Amino acid sequence: MAEVVYQLESRPVWRAMGRGFRKRCPRCGEGKLMAGYLTVASQCNACGLDLTPQRADDAPPYFTIFIVGHIVVPLMWAWERYYAPPAALQMAVWLPVIALLSLWLLPRVKGATVGLQWAMKMHDFGESRET
Ligand SMILES: [Zn+2]
Repeated sequence: MAEVVYQLESRPVWRAMGRGFRKRCPRCGEGKLMAGYLTVASQCNACGLDLTPQRADDAPPYFTIFIVGHIVVPLMWAWERYYAPPAALQMAVWLPVIALLSLWLLPRVKGATVGLQWAMKMHDFGESRET
């Protein structure tokens, strides 16, 4: 019965991506999505959603680089344009910012990517394979 309900459920994309960004199950928002820093759990520990169909692959690093670049580059440019600090100071500030922001965002972007795949019924997320 629960299987039928889940096949007919609505899957709002932004809700699923938001839950994934918070590293929660895209379906219930309660269970943990990640089993490690970047390892997606095989199953939601709250609702039992099979998470093995996810195929995030290279998308999370790509989107993370895209987002970090669009945040950091304008700030670097503005700092250089208006204050022209020494290059060593720029490096001392921006390299850690880039590294920490990337490390913080990467698992969240991966979670959002998995949420998107589930909401769009990509790969085998359209099939109900709950046990
Ligand atoms: Zn769940």
